[in-house]
Amino acid sequence: MTFTMSDYELLQAALETVREAVLITDNQLDRPGPFIVYANPAFSELTGYTAQELVGKTPRLLQGVDTDAVLMQTLRKQLLAGEVFSGETVNYRKDGSAFRMQWTIRPFPATGQPRYFIAAQRDVSVMRTLEQQRQQLQALVEIQTRVGTAGLDLQAMRDQVAEVALVVTGAEGAAVEEAEHGEMVYTACSGKAAGSLGLRLPVVGSLSGTCYLQRESIHCRDTHKDPRVARVAADKVGFRSGLLVPLTHKQHCFGVLKVYSAQPDAFSDGDMKLLNMASQLLASSLADARIFKGERDRRSLLVDSLPMLISFVDLQLCYREINVAYTRWYNRPIEQIVGKGVADVMGQAQFNAIEHYMLSALSGERVTFEFHLLQADGTVKPVEVDYTPVLSGQGDVQGFYEMIRDISDRKHAEQDYLTGAFNRKGFDDRLEMVCTTARRYRRPFALIFLDVDHFKKVNDRFGHAAGDDVLRTLVKVLLSKVRDSDIVCRWGGEEFAILAPETSMAEALDLAERLRLALSQHQFATVGQITASFAVGEFDHEESGQAFVNRVDDALYDAKVAGRNRVAPAN
Ligand code: GH3
Ligand code: MG
Ligand code: MG
Repeated sequence: MTFTMSDYELLQAALETVREAVLITDNQLDRPGPFIVYANPAFSELTGYTAQELVGKTPRLLQGVDTDAVLMQTLRKQLLAGEVFSGETVNYRKDGSAFRMQWTIRPFPATGQPRYFIAAQRDVSVMRTLEQQRQQLQALVEIQTRVGTAGLDLQAMRDQVAEVALVVTGAEGAAVEEAEHGEMVYTACSGKAAGSLGLRLPVVGSLSGTCYLQRESIHCRDTHKDPRVARVAADKVGFRSGLLVPLTHKQHCFGVLKVYSAQPDAFSDGDMKLLNMASQLLASSLADARIFKGERDRRSLLVDSLPMLISFVDLQLCYREINVAYTRWYNRPIEQIVGKGVADVMGQAQFNAIEHYMLSALSGERVTFEFHLLQADGTVKPVEVDYTPVLSGQGDVQGFYEMIRDISDRKHAEQDYLTGAFNRKGFDDRLEMVCTTARRYRRPFALIFLDVDHFKKVNDRFGHAAGDDVLRTLVKVLLSKVRDSDIVCRWGGEEFAILAPETSMAEALDLAERLRLALSQHQFATVGQITASFAVGEFDHEESGQAFVNRVDDALYDAKVAGRNRVAPAN
């Protein structure tokens, strides 16, 4: 195809109209060539050089420090081979400003020995910047999501931070370093840094330390050329280039986030910018987790120092959280209690006895009861147990807190040491409680007094020790005949009281009669047979506890004067 003059002008007019920058050079690829033979107005607009300034010069005048030298070699090779070249790199305008250029060069004519090279170029700086910003935004969203999954678990959060930094910068290694007593401690590591966990380096003299002390980001392009770097340490972990950003939250810097590569100059300014942006989010998440852990540690310390067992039991009746008192009580490490069923830990028999209390708690009730809890060494301790249900925001029960107090001491204070029965203090406390309940719910309850007949003579005849023995055995006999809920008390000397909740006068008279018979028929060691006199009364909801006690005590006198070994009703 041959051009007529008017065709040529038409094509030139077209070239001068298009928005793409077009440059034509001759075919002398070796320096000082190639030489520009034509540049369209769009090219002049892009570069700031006029066509006159360009023609006769080489396109190399557009290149500078950030121009990709390797790419330019490729270009040369491809053109020599007669191929079409496409690429993208940094070029410089006449005023020295840089821009990202994407261009295609094709030989002309397309076959045979080329006479010219036609280059069409576009400024893609804006597009690239937008793309980079979009990627950064995406990375930030990703970071936020990942960090969100760590919750408030400090170590999980540290690990996520290191991992995120590694991923978004494409680094080979990443580490979170936290300052502690003049040292930078590697608290989380990712990628190639994995082996450095727990490593401690002095703050002074390390690049991380500098970043931490000056609270400024550091972009180290090559550790071999950076005088601030401890070379030996850096080479050991394969740190040739890297980014370091301070972890600062509310004006307090607590550490450094570091990413690195074994290659020099592996990170761009964009990576630095992204890491800087991310570090604010990461630092505040980390700071929250640190504060939370601090509070939890303090709380655990408090909870662990309390002289009671404290746990959280879930809907499956498994321990979710426990304090250290549990590990001592059951002589098992935490991990053999947490996550395990209550039945597994305390034993099936003990569990069966308290399961109904637990089910009440899971139905939302607060439960308090006393129990004899078995310890790992086989001893049984009297305990007071409290269940407090825990509700979700919607009001469903999620489990309950269990608090178990060893009440051996209290039991001791309420116990008669000779017989093991309740003493007067134990009796008085319970009398008060039983009176209040009976009055409020209009329930019956009864009181039985008994006094051993002619006990003085027993002592006189068989000695005080034998007398003591009778008293001890007598309590055993009584306990074997009364209900678990009845309270047997040594009132004083050879006189006893029995508090029987939920018991009417008729039932109490019947019980007293059975007790009288049982005692009179029992063969006491050494002493043989004894008898006792009884008085029985039912609580009148209008009277005081003391008046009730006096009323029944008076009736005991009636039983004595009527001939002993009998039951007298109180008036
Ligand atoms: P009564 O049938 O009228 O109750 O005659 P009694 O002898 O049982 O009554 P009294 O109140 O005159 O005597 C009670 C005796 O109980 C006096 C005391 O020696 C004895 N006693 C009180 N406490 C103890 C004790 O802890 N151990 C022993 N071995 N005896 C006790
Ligand atoms: Mg007496
Ligand atoms: Mg007596």
